[in-house]
Amino acid sequence: MIEREFQRLEEEVGACVRCPLHEKRIQAVFGTGHPFSEIMVIGEGPGEEEDRQGLPFVGKSGQLLDKILAAAGFSRDENVYIANIVKCRPPENREPAPEERAACLPWLEEQIALIQPNIIILLGSTALKGLIDPEGKITRMRGTWIQWNDIWVMPTYHPSALLRNPDLKKEVWEDMKEVVRKYREVVDPTHKAPHL
Ligand code: SF4
Repeated sequence: MIEREFQRLEEEVGACVRCPLHEKRIQAVFGTGHPFSEIMVIGEGPGEEEDRQGLPFVGKSGQLLDKILAAAGFSRDENVYIANIVKCRPPENREPAPEERAACLPWLEEQIALIQPNIIILLGSTALKGLIDPEGKITRMRGTWIQWNDIWVMPTYHPSALLRNPDLKKEVWEDMKEVVRKYREVVDPTHKAPHL
């Protein structure tokens, strides 16, 4: 049963000491959403609030992410599973180091193998580098589909980048339109996106 496998994996991640990020965490942040989701959203790593609550994307970035998903007709309660490249908060919210990303990647790969999403949305440079290409540039690769292990992968900007620079919203909107188009093609031709 996938739920039991998920529970086992979450317990293993909660006890993980594979990299130094475990030393200062309050708790590992495993992920949230439905295990049968057609879409996975992958971000960078937990921030302060996420570390405290044990859930990904619960601060301002999370609220913006939920708005973006809702505009495209998606939600973390129904058809989206959200996880991060690293499960433990990097101190001072710094970018996770390549060796920390590499240590944590097998957990994410197990999550992906269990969920088997049709589409993955990568949020920001760390997610792109962590999953697809260590030399990947988000400014160059966003908005372009990548086929990875039979999954359609769309890199776009992280919501925190939009909060710093609202001019990037236009590009994210374009990228989400592509996601809706692909979702209609491979999952549900009748999918409604209220604001795209
Ligand atoms: S960040 Fe990942 S690899 Fe490092 S301790 Fe946390 S769960 Fe383990």
